[in-house]
Amino acid sequence: MSTGEIKRVIIIGAGQAGGETAQRLRQAGFTGDITLIGEEPAAPYQRPPLSKAYLKGDLDMDRLLLRPTNLYSEENITLLTSLRAVWIDRANRKVRVEGGRELPYDALVLATGARPRKLPLVGADLDGVFLFRTAADADALRPRMVSGAKLVVIGAGYIGLEAAAVARQLGLDVTVIEMAVRPLARVTSPEVAGFFLDEHTRQGVRFVLGGQPAIIKGRERVTGVALTDGSEIPADIVLAGIGVTPEVTLAQQCGLAVENGIVTNRQCLTSDPAIYAIGDCASRPMAHFEQRVARLESVHNAVEGAKIVAAAITGGKPHTEEAPWFWSDQYDLKLQIAGLFQGYDRVVLRGVMADRAFAAFYYKGPKLIAVDAVNRPAEYLGAKMLIQTGRTVAPSELEDESRPMKEIVAAAR
Ligand code: FAD
Repeated sequence: MSTGEIKRVIIIGAGQAGGETAQRLRQAGFTGDITLIGEEPAAPYQRPPLSKAYLKGDLDMDRLLLRPTNLYSEENITLLTSLRAVWIDRANRKVRVEGGRELPYDALVLATGARPRKLPLVGADLDGVFLFRTAADADALRPRMVSGAKLVVIGAGYIGLEAAAVARQLGLDVTVIEMAVRPLARVTSPEVAGFFLDEHTRQGVRFVLGGQPAIIKGRERVTGVALTDGSEIPADIVLAGIGVTPEVTLAQQCGLAVENGIVTNRQCLTSDPAIYAIGDCASRPMAHFEQRVARLESVHNAVEGAKIVAAAITGGKPHTEEAPWFWSDQYDLKLQIAGLFQGYDRVVLRGVMADRAFAAFYYKGPKLIAVDAVNRPAEYLGAKMLIQTGRTVAPSELEDESRPMKEIVAAAR
């Protein structure tokens, strides 16, 4: 079907990617029907604050929303919440929702996100054991986060460490168990991981690195986590932050290609020419990842997918991909990341970690591929621009703190 013939778009998943797609379709001038189906009760909202300001109690639900709810009806976007899509009939281009209603589409966008991995342990269903993905998860956890309570976080990724930081700020006793020998093992270098380990330790978080939980203990409520080495850590709350799996149930049911997410081409088109897939549920070749297929879990990636799809459906100018970015807030530290560090062979520091404001630049050969900037927004923005435009600078220039970042970027080739 050519772009001009698309009159009905259905988006399954009213999260960051789905919500952005509906909005960007209208911005791009699409005048046909848009139906946005989401199983959660809320209109599309941002998840990042859930493990940051929202968990701490500094932000309410209204502030999480991507946009005010009334805008959907004003822009003639049919938003169906608390409703799950259960079947895709590709031959007849219909989506069936719970209750049996069938909705026809000309173009379908799968934006079904990801599900948090459950702890594969006895006791994982006890009261007091939490997964962390939705506002409902945060709402359930928040009242238990009282001063003096014992929290065990399993998994030292960004979400686990952010929750640990909030918990310390609220006066909880916090232990983080991580199977790897360092925190953030999948997402950053040993140098930057070491900085965050020291920072959390200074703030009173205990770490069990290389630790393997064996069983979650308790009768009805959790009382502790036993490790395979026989030790036991007492707990009133256990938070599992051991990663997510892409939500691909519908895609698999209807026979789309799936491999670590729903497989798409650069235009986010799946193996069916009427179905796109974007956000955490999808894998695609990425311009800033040497065209390798990757599945990213980030706001940046959700927004990129929405822009690509809106351009494809409306026949607009193809979107030029932005370099990936991400952030994490822990205590008063703002970590900003641009690019993808995988495959780096050299890390160059600008600033001193002890000052709690520095940037780690990652090089692959002579090429700058990523930055982790802690409380250094100028370094983040400068490096992001260099990575975006494929320019690079010699490591010695970045190490020279006497030259402002702006000047270094302006002189880069
Ligand atoms: P989601 O936002 O998960 O939305 C998918 C939606 O689809 C969900 O509401 C789901 O219920 C719904 N759905 C699934 N199947 C169906 C169905 N069959 N029918 C109807 N609805 C369905 N990223 C950053 O860049 N920076 C951060 O600091 C950061 N912090 C985070 C902190 C937390 C606690 C979490 C959970 C995530 C964080 N992320 C962060 C990641 C970021 O939020 C996600 O990458 C982003 O939300 C992905 O958007 P999405 O639309 O693909 O998926």
